[in-house]
Amino acid sequence: MYDTLFLTRDDAGEPKEIVGYWIDITDLVESKGVHEAIFKYAVDGAILIDESSLIKSFSPAAEKLFGYTEKEVFGKNISMLMPQPFQEEHDGYVKRYLDTGKGRIIGVGPREVSALKKDGSVIPIDLVISEAIVGTERLFLGIVRDISERKQAHDDLLNIANYDQLTGLPNRTLFHERLRHAIARSERNETLIALFYIDLDRFKQINDSLGHDAGDQLLRLTAERLQSNTRKSDTVARLSGDEFAVILEDVDHISIVTKVAQKIVESLSRSATLNGREIHPGASIGVTLYPMDDKLPEDLMKDADMAMYRAKEMGGSQFQYYSQQLGASVQHRIELEFDLRSAIKKEEFVLHFQPQAELLNGRIIGAEALLRWNHPKLGLVSPATFVPVLEEMGLITDVGNWVLRESCRHLRAWRRLGFDHLKVSVNVSPKQFKSWEFLGTVQNVIRETGVPPNCIELEITESLVMDDPENAVYLLKSLHELGVEISIDDFGTGYSSLSNLKSLPFDTLKIDRAFIKELPDDTDSATICRTIIALADALNLKTVAEGVEKLTQLKFLKRNGCNSIQGFYFSKPTTHQEFEKLLLEGKCLSVSDRHGDIIEVE
Ligand code: C2E
Ligand code: CA
Ligand code: CA
Repeated sequence: MYDTLFLTRDDAGEPKEIVGYWIDITDLVESKGVHEAIFKYAVDGAILIDESSLIKSFSPAAEKLFGYTEKEVFGKNISMLMPQPFQEEHDGYVKRYLDTGKGRIIGVGPREVSALKKDGSVIPIDLVISEAIVGTERLFLGIVRDISERKQAHDDLLNIANYDQLTGLPNRTLFHERLRHAIARSERNETLIALFYIDLDRFKQINDSLGHDAGDQLLRLTAERLQSNTRKSDTVARLSGDEFAVILEDVDHISIVTKVAQKIVESLSRSATLNGREIHPGASIGVTLYPMDDKLPEDLMKDADMAMYRAKEMGGSQFQYYSQQLGASVQHRIELEFDLRSAIKKEEFVLHFQPQAELLNGRIIGAEALLRWNHPKLGLVSPATFVPVLEEMGLITDVGNWVLRESCRHLRAWRRLGFDHLKVSVNVSPKQFKSWEFLGTVQNVIRETGVPPNCIELEITESLVMDDPENAVYLLKSLHELGVEISIDDFGTGYSSLSNLKSLPFDTLKIDRAFIKELPDDTDSATICRTIIALADALNLKTVAEGVEKLTQLKFLKRNGCNSIQGFYFSKPTTHQEFEKLLLEGKCLSVSDRHGDIIEVE
């Protein structure tokens, strides 16, 4: 049965009536003449199969399409005309249709599927399958059409829409799509991408003097040179005229970007022979980085374009980073941030320990843990350079927590050697202190390492308390309840109020190096130091003098009742092995100078 229904509308487009007609085609299928005519002359191939998928009829057009004769396929399973992956699926589809009456292809409009030809090639075809009951037998009629050409045309169109016909490179449209994807990937994987905007120098001149043909040759040569200096996974595109762009993905280190940019500049400046004339091309390149520079693709392109113009202004045949517009220091900063990010992963941080010695009897009472960055190229980098950067990057909490854990691990080792009286002092950055997890981290570290809380001293700065007094007070009190000691670092440089000093649970004041430096001759410094020591005494706080380099300073401090000192005079910050050695050797603060001038020891 063949049925058709359609809706008719009046002049205004309103539905008017439904017209339908039904044609009984049993006769048609059964009538051999018509059947044969359709099979023989139809342009599309026709294949008749039975319920077991065995081929019953194979039209001449089908023979032409598949390369088999009807004889060769008769009685065979239709799956022989399908490429491997579809063969099993097919049996499932047929079974499902027979069981449920529901089909994916059967009774549905044309579907694009793949067909396997006799010569082994696979081609795309359109397939329509309908069911026909002939007598008591249920048959399926498949109409097939070779759509290779149509598909090719479609692909060609896509190609034209996405690729530059002269160089074969992705064009601007595809480039933007790739850039969007690259940015998404970079966000997901936290990797760096670099975008190069490349403009040939003096292209118009070459084009005008040597002709368009030579210009085209140069563009093709440029495309080749760009490709040979980048990886397969990078995108090289021609945006328009003599403008090209490159996306470098998954960059491990910013120095790689610089290296590739250098290589490209060099390669694009190499002389070439066009139309028998030697020319000396060149290119100006602007470089932007994601995620360091702007965040939107359009802005990245703008930034790179701007940088490219600067490269041009500076004489061409060179590259410029967008960020360099803000000065070389920014460039340096970008590199620093990049290196710091990987420093954590690569375990490039180490701790050094600077001993603190008691003035009363000269023995070592503890050590301050000082962070060091063992940079693969620069060597040991000072924390004064990178701690502020870690703070701005929001990484100080991770690193700071590592410092605390590592310090306590070392303390535990020293305690095992019998040095039970030692304290370890750990610097806590304001950001780290303010993070909600800080208290929990301290508790965890104490539990994990098993060191007594009163052997841990946290060094905080005055400004930390002043910035957010309410929160600081709560946290300081909680830490104190744990038994952890608190010292005020760089004391005298901030603006602690006396009431804070009195009401908060501090244990130690560390007198800033600035006041120790000019001791004992500078009277202001001497007065300040005496005052701080007296103040600490009155508030029942201990004092540590920082940055003691000379015996004269030491004498002054001792005479004025300072409790302990830390400084190059006694020891520079050292590795934990060196520090352990000092402990085992029983090193004490020397109480006499080279001239035998004895410092009184009570
Ligand atoms: P700070 O806490 O005031 O540390 C004392 C600094 O003075 C250290 O510098 C130490 O090497 C230096 N020093 C000690 N004795 C002398 C001396 O006799 N003469 C001179 N000229 N200098 C002396 P360093 O190690 O470069 O640390 C600089 C700063 O970096 C530290 O100042 C501290 O604020 C910060 N820092 C170091 N480690 C960490 C850490 O683990 N976390 C945090 N948040 N900051 C840290
Ligand atoms: Ca400190
Ligand atoms: Ca200090």
